[in-house]
Amino acid sequence: GTIADTLTRGVENVTGTLSEAFLEPTLRLGVTGLSRAGKTVFITSLVANLMDRGRMPGLVAQAEGRILSAFLQPQPDDTIPRFDFETHLGALTARAPHWPDSTRAVSELRLSLRIRPNGLLSGLQGPRTLHLDIVDYPGEWLLDLGLMDKSFSQWSEQMLTRLETRPGGPALLKRLKATDSTAPLDEGTAKALAEAYTAQLHEAREAGFSDCSPGRFLLPGELEGSPVLTFAPLPPNAGAGRRSLWREFERRFDSYKARVVKPFFRDHFSRIDRQVVLVDALGAIHAGPRAVEDLRQTLTDILTAFRPGGNAFLSQLFLGKRIEKILFAATKADHLHHLQHPRLTAIMEALTRDARDRARFAGAETQAFSIAALRATTEQMMDHGGQTLPCVRGTLLDTGRQAAFYPGALPEDPNHLLGPARKGAEAWLDGDYSVMRFAPAPLTLKAGEGPPHIRLDRAAQFLIGDRL
Ligand code: GDP
Repeated sequence: GTIADTLTRGVENVTGTLSEAFLEPTLRLGVTGLSRAGKTVFITSLVANLMDRGRMPGLVAQAEGRILSAFLQPQPDDTIPRFDFETHLGALTARAPHWPDSTRAVSELRLSLRIRPNGLLSGLQGPRTLHLDIVDYPGEWLLDLGLMDKSFSQWSEQMLTRLETRPGGPALLKRLKATDSTAPLDEGTAKALAEAYTAQLHEAREAGFSDCSPGRFLLPGELEGSPVLTFAPLPPNAGAGRRSLWREFERRFDSYKARVVKPFFRDHFSRIDRQVVLVDALGAIHAGPRAVEDLRQTLTDILTAFRPGGNAFLSQLFLGKRIEKILFAATKADHLHHLQHPRLTAIMEALTRDARDRARFAGAETQAFSIAALRATTEQMMDHGGQTLPCVRGTLLDTGRQAAFYPGALPEDPNHLLGPARKGAEAWLDGDYSVMRFAPAPLTLKAGEGPPHIRLDRAAQFLIGDRL
């Protein structure tokens, strides 16, 4: 009960937490990308390959034999859904393997690694533990950052302009313009407009457009049907009174920002240390030049989130903390023979150049890679009309047929895909690419081996290697 006691206890508490933080540091790894980019497959294969490290020679601590074990533990955040690792791995490793269900919302998984220290300390210290907290979230949600500094009328103006050039856009535009937004709010009308707007976003996504924000319209989760998702852009209407459709949509838009966008950035995004941004670059290239240009623009928008200095709302959340490393990975590289991988990486570098320059400016280290989290093909050279083509062999998802395919060529100079120099008429990946929907290959894993991949070990080295 003396003051000295209290002080000592105080000191013990402090040293207790300090030594825990020192001995068992945590690293939060964010995994994002637009839907179908490959987040679920990436996390599942990464975790499986960190637990069974037979295919991870590119991870230096593994090559040095210093990773003693890796195991899943309860995650620190009780209210975030757990990433369903076991079910997803079960899908990929089943006797008739299938692709797992994709990311619909934020989820989390803790993988703890026991590591033997290297260098001078190795003889003096016992093994230490690093907790890797992997946070999976839709890239669509990052795009919502662009809403934060906009009013409903500014946002509406931008969206109405966007509709002019989008599939299904002009018809919807006509309908929105014909709506009497000064009329008192009618829930039936509100719902019909929101549904039409959402349907148009889906249509644009199907056609290969990347920016289909607001993000929760495409991936609503538990907010489906709620008022924060029941609005649409409207032409300006200064005369709209208090209970009008226009005012109510304005109120819902503001509520979407305050109750949906802000909490995501505050509770999840601002706590991330390392980030991987997965990109289905091959899909966009196949969809054509407009889709590639849209992807480039969208990546630039997504990545403004990684430069908190440029955004008042974010710099408040980050308060000097920053994301240390960002990996941009073109996924599904197993659709290409490795001879074509350098071109894919060059395209990925070109696609993210603006964004990477900015991130570097903000102090984050960045890197572009081509990877396949789950390799579904093998390589094969094939003669075709006197030419030898680098092909990949795999099993088609629809027919179960096994065959070798040549997806087509990627441009040698990535600038031919992008910007003003782009050759509009040229079709890249116009070979077999459109039929190349592969099923995951049946796996017979040897003990201590994770699923086959391309460069997942190098990606892991970049993202967490310095902390092992
Ligand atoms: P998410 O929406 O970002 O979670 O995307 P998923 O991880 O669910 O991946 C979407 C789809 O892309 C999968 O169902 C597969 O068809 C395909 N895919 C993802 N990763 C790979 C890969 O490494 N190789 C191949 N061949 N296909 C992949």
